[in-house]
This record gives sequence, structure tokens and C-alpha cells, in this order.
Amino acid sequence: MAEAWIRAIAVAVDEHRDQLIQLDAAIGDADHGTNLCRGFTAVLEALGDKHPRTVGEVLVTTGTTLMSSVGGASGPLYGTAFRAAGKLLTEPAVTPKQLAAALYAATAAVTQLGAATLGDKTMLDALAPACTAFEDAVLHHGDLPSAAAAAAKAAEEGAVSTIPLQARKGRASYLGVRSMGHQDPGATSTALIFEALAGVTR
Ligand code: ADP
Ligand code: MG
Repeated sequence: MAEAWIRAIAVAVDEHRDQLIQLDAAIGDADHGTNLCRGFTAVLEALGDKHPRTVGEVLVTTGTTLMSSVGGASGPLYGTAFRAAGKLLTEPAVTPKQLAAALYAATAAVTQLGAATLGDKTMLDALAPACTAFEDAVLHHGDLPSAAAAAAKAAEEGAVSTIPLQARKGRASYLGVRSMGHQDPGATSTALIFEALAGVTR
């Protein structure tokens, strides 16, 4: 499942490369789509070389590779997120509850590294609600497909919710009030990551 998820993310960031570039062009430096395509291309190579066995090893390899191949803010942030999640998942089979805990660890890692809070117009505005929605769905339904679908919906809503916000972290914050009216690129790619999870678990 984990490797299929990462491969689906690679396809999604490639398909949405131009959209991510345009969103970052509006409030950043237009490299978010390029950064993620470069990063996930390197991740696919690393997975092919290393043949990780557990879900945790797949996610840690993904994070480590993103950290070393993506120069922008999103490389270390996504890198630390995937590594934090992967470190918790050492068993070959992962339960939805364990994945929920791993998503919390990812959110905590992004918060610690980036020091953003909800509403700062960052990837956290998609990641945190997705994480909560995933856990709620696990508690109510218990199955991975419903949890992934709920997380994808929450991440997408979170990404759209960044449009009116003023950026308070990262490059977009340099624009002040001119950052308002644009969807955050990182929140948008986070929504793609959860949509990819929903796609492979459906
Ligand atoms: P850079 O900003 O270095 O060009 P990218 O364009 O790849 O890097 O990524 C930009 C995205 O990173 C933003 O849209 C935002 O979601 C996210 N981001 C930037 N700074 C932070 C932060 N401190 N905390 C959380 N996310 C952040
Ligand atoms: Mg950028």
C-alpha cells in the first residue's frame, strides 16, 4: 500500500505541476511544482534502489530523499513529515489506527520545524484537518478507505480555506496583505497527497 501511495503522489504532482507552479508564482517564487516533481522523481529512484520492506521504511526513505533533493521550504517540511510518520510504522502490516497516529506525528513534525499555526496559510492548513478527519473516521468506521476519503476531503477544504488568508510563514509572508486571495501551493500539494491516499485505498 505504502509504495502504491508514493507512486500515486508522484503521478499527481507531475499532473498538477503547472498548477502548483502557478499558485507559487502568485505568492512565492514559482518553484513548488518543480520542487515536488524533482523530489518525487528522486523518491521513485530511491525506492527502486532500496526495495524497502515495511510501510515505515517506504515512508522514511521518501522523507530522507525529499530532504536531500528539494531545496525549497517544502523539501525539509515534507521530508520531516514522511520521516516522522515512517518511524512509527515498524510492523509489516499497518492498522488504520497506527496510520492515524503516524499522521499526527507528521503534523507535529511539520509544526515543530515550520513553527506555523493553523490559519498561517501553509501546508498545515490542509495537513492538520486531514489528520483530524482521518482519526475521526477511523474511530467511527474503522476502515482505511473511509478514513482516507475523509482526510482527502478535509485536506481539499483546508487548501481552499487558505485563499482569503494572509500568509504569516514562508516566502508568501513577505507579500503581507497581497498574499490574500490566492490558494497556498503547499496546502494544495498536501491535498494532492491525501487524494492519492484515497485513490489507492478506494
Ligand atoms: P519555497 O517557499 O522555499 O520556494 P516551496 O515553494 O517548495 O518552497 O514551498 C512553499 C510552501 O511551503 C508554501 O506554500 C507553504 O505551504 C509551505 N511552507 C513554507 N513555510 C512554511 C512553514 N514555516 N511551515 C509550514 N509550511 C510552510
Ligand atoms: Mg517556492
